[in-house]
This record gives sequence, C-alpha cells and structure tokens, in this order.
Amino acid sequence: MSRPPRTCRCGHAKGHELVAEEPEYTLWGWILLSMFGITPKPDHVVYRCQMCRQSLGSTRDPKVLARRTGSPKASSSANASTAPAKTETSPSSEESPRT
Ligand SMILES: [Zn+2]
Repeated sequence: MSRPPRTCRCGHAKGHELVAEEPEYTLWGWILLSMFGITPKPDHVVYRCQMCRQSLGSTRDPKVLARRTGSPKASSSANASTAPAKTETSPSSEESPRT
C-alpha cells in the first residue's frame, strides 16, 4: 500500500507551502459559518495547490480537522498564505479542470 506522492500539474505535493489545507464544510457547517459566524468543524480538508487550484486529495484525519477548526492562536501565520479566495469555493464545484 505505498502509492507515490500525488502531485499537481505544477509538481507540488502535499506538504508544499503552496498546497493549502482547505476546510470543506457540510451544508450545516456553511449555515453556521454564514449565519452565526461560527467556525464549525470541517467535514473534511482538501489539499489544494494555490497555483493551479488542483486538488491533491482530502483527509478526514481528526487532527487535521481540529487544526482547521476555530483556533485563533494557530491562525496567525496561516492567514497570510491560506485562502486568498476566501469562501468562494462552493462545495460542489471542486473538480473543475479549467482548461
Ligand atoms: Zn499546482
């Protein structure tokens, strides 16, 4: 069960600084987020290259999810590099090739 690391079209793999962990929420999560301003626990986290927006897979690892759940202290450095597109990504349009 050893698969080679998946890379995007520009060659970035998970763990690269340009590959961000983007939390994806359930519908209820979106409601909490937009109506109450609460940061819910993500349903899963998608690894996405910030250059080409290609998804490199997702995880439901509780440790990763906990990292993406509202923790103001941990987000100080993450804010600079993560999510220039904010919450524009709708949950359904995740795999658009754009070519
Ligand atoms: Zn890329």
